[in-house]
Amino acid sequence: MGYGGNTSCVSLDIPGADPIVFDLGTGLRYFGRAVRGGRPFRGTSLVSHLHWDHIQGLPFFTPLLSDGAHITMYAPRQADGTSVADIFADMIRPPLFPVDLMTLPGTVEFREVCNDEFEIDGGPAGPISVMSRTIPHIGRTLGYRVEWNGGSVAYLSDHQMPSDGSFAAEDGALELCRDVDLLIHDAQYTNDEFAVKRDWGHCTVDYAVWIAAEAEARQLALFHHDPTHDDDVLDGLVRGAAEVGAEQGVRVFGAREGSCVIV
Ligand SMILES: [Zn+2]
Ligand SMILES: [Zn+2]
Repeated sequence: MGYGGNTSCVSLDIPGADPIVFDLGTGLRYFGRAVRGGRPFRGTSLVSHLHWDHIQGLPFFTPLLSDGAHITMYAPRQADGTSVADIFADMIRPPLFPVDLMTLPGTVEFREVCNDEFEIDGGPAGPISVMSRTIPHIGRTLGYRVEWNGGSVAYLSDHQMPSDGSFAAEDGALELCRDVDLLIHDAQYTNDEFAVKRDWGHCTVDYAVWIAAEAEARQLALFHHDPTHDDDVLDGLVRGAAEVGAEQGVRVFGAREGSCVIV
């Protein structure tokens, strides 16, 4: 009720540029309401991976129901070569959805990426730099780092920590997080929960604080809360993590639906 129950979706607003959205979970419906009218929606999505909780908001994104609307979607190139466009076309079609993705008035342009660096055209804001790196989860998964005008944000929503509970990270994950202004990172489990879900693709709150400190991130948003945690549990986890983070020079807070962070 407090932190919010929607699945992963974070919008990144760069003055003068079209919106960038990390993931397309159910939170995308709320972002759709906030989109200003007047001209067809244009924006970019950086999709971490294709698990339901990260893509299921797309067919409910009402700005896509206008002629001329356009989303450029970056998503991980699949290890088995299956095209991401085909996967979405298979998901958004009868009998799973009333209409085909291709019959929606707006268009989605798919771009498959892996360990890459690329630029998004920010219009008057100029080029926006993006780094994508594979990170451990279940299935091909990317973390992203976006930089513009000296500011940086990293997004690692689903990140498997070492299953023995130790604190270590692949070079690519650390590269994404290094000196970042804001790190949005998986923080799904308590240590006790991780002990029985060691290979479920996620990490602990303690691990999130560790990687933020290790990479010298300035702020850490604890993200991808476990759906069984209520507000009281999350308040406790956030409070403890904020204390540990403060000792290591990292401002730690819990990602909360509708909250806005200025970097
Ligand atoms: Zn996942
Ligand atoms: Zn997820």
